[in-house]
Amino acid sequence: MASKQKESVHVLVVGAGPVGMMCASKLSHAGIKTTVIESDKFIPPIPKALTYTAPVLADLKRLGVLEEVQKISFADERAIWQWRTLGGKVLAEMHWSLLKDHPDPRLVKPYTLQCGQHLLAKVLTEYCRKFPSTEVLFDHALVGLTQDASHVTARVSKSGGEAFDIKADWVIGADGGKSATRKFIGQSLEGFTWDESFVAMNVRFPFPKYGWGAANFLVGGKEWAVAGRSGPLTDPWRVAFGVEVGLTDEEVIKTVAPDRLKRILPGPDSYEIVQCSQYRVHQRQVQQYKVGRVVLAGDSAHLNNPIGGFGLTTGMTDAGCISDALILVIRGEAPEELLQKACDVRHEVFATVSNPGSQKFKAMVQQDPDNICEEDQAFFENMKNDADFQRSALTGVMRLYTPVEGLMVN
Ligand SMILES: Cc1cc2nc3c(=O)[nH]c(=O)nc-3n(C[C@H](O)[C@H](O)[C@H](O)COP(=O)(O)OP(=O)(O)OC[C@H]3O[C@@H](n4cnc5c(N)ncnc54)[C@H](O)[C@@H]3O)c2cc1C
Repeated sequence: MASKQKESVHVLVVGAGPVGMMCASKLSHAGIKTTVIESDKFIPPIPKALTYTAPVLADLKRLGVLEEVQKISFADERAIWQWRTLGGKVLAEMHWSLLKDHPDPRLVKPYTLQCGQHLLAKVLTEYCRKFPSTEVLFDHALVGLTQDASHVTARVSKSGGEAFDIKADWVIGADGGKSATRKFIGQSLEGFTWDESFVAMNVRFPFPKYGWGAANFLVGGKEWAVAGRSGPLTDPWRVAFGVEVGLTDEEVIKTVAPDRLKRILPGPDSYEIVQCSQYRVHQRQVQQYKVGRVVLAGDSAHLNNPIGGFGLTTGMTDAGCISDALILVIRGEAPEELLQKACDVRHEVFATVSNPGSQKFKAMVQQDPDNICEEDQAFFENMKNDADFQRSALTGVMRLYTPVEGLMVN
């Protein structure tokens, strides 16, 4: 059990992305002294994650920030996800409204939230700023880390200043795919990297005129694509597709995008590319989320391809479970083993749900639309004809959620 008064316990969170800020929000809400260090001067508004499903909504509601996030998102009970062929045929639809009267209290709203992840992080940062015992320090990078049985000492560097130490009782490393925390605790991401780059573009185009859903998965072999709303009605849409590795963003915009968008976009209307980013994609995870008094959450612990929206939803549910466990340990209401258990269960969730699930979504869109495999044909037929099947597909995402209460039994 915790040997110190909870008032004097200090947690350092590394990274002010959405996962780090969810951890910091939970700890702040619990009255725990928290410092967040973020190497960037601000969280850049680049096109990255945009869809967050039911488990994320549940934790945002518990913090009391769900309404704030709804304001900056596309969040609509009529939202539909569609599977289409590149040629425009609708293969199946999934209606979030089917969850409206679902008895599971954790399904707080019958829709997903769609907004840029930098905005989600911003809402949580503003939330943390309301707590006098929480500090969010931008332009502060973790450059070293040592620990003993009772403390962690983090070496922190600010641009233009001398490096200094921050002493903490616990550290949460939420510093993303290139995590320094991960390296300092001797962990590495094991798995593989796909031999393609993913392009994510924000594009203005009148998709609703052509009946497209809030999120659309285009089955098209090598020419697969995903397109969906990236925020409220006036925001540009997000279009993602794969390209060969090694192209510059300028080459993608000038030489690849015109031809690809011609086949992806459903009509002859003009379009405008507002932003474009490229990413290498991986299926990887560390062996241990917890080493001594340091724990990892989100992309610092695991990476998957983004098709299907598993990455950040898994990261946010790591944040929820791991922070809740740490809070109980700090309060002396649970032994440290609970934190270890939370980390082990989250490792298992990635290994058994997010990692295979994201690969399944990828394989589904990357198959030949004229030769769809039997399993997926059956999936599309069931989606079309069986509302209960649709409901169970919608609620299946709750497998990503690990309420800490469930870990305390036994
Ligand atoms: C194209 C694309 C689309 C995606 N779409 C979805 C989606 O729709 N739904 C979904 O669930 N997921 C999606 N993902 C995955 C999602 O973007 C990631 O899972 C998410 O960014 C993880 O958040 P994080 O907070 O763990 O890490 P990050 O967002 O990477 O944040 C880490 C932060 O740590 C900071 N940092 C790094 N090093 C240091 C250091 N040494 N010291 C201090 N700070 C540091 C970084 O500057 C950064 O701000 C998508 C990914 C891609 C590439």
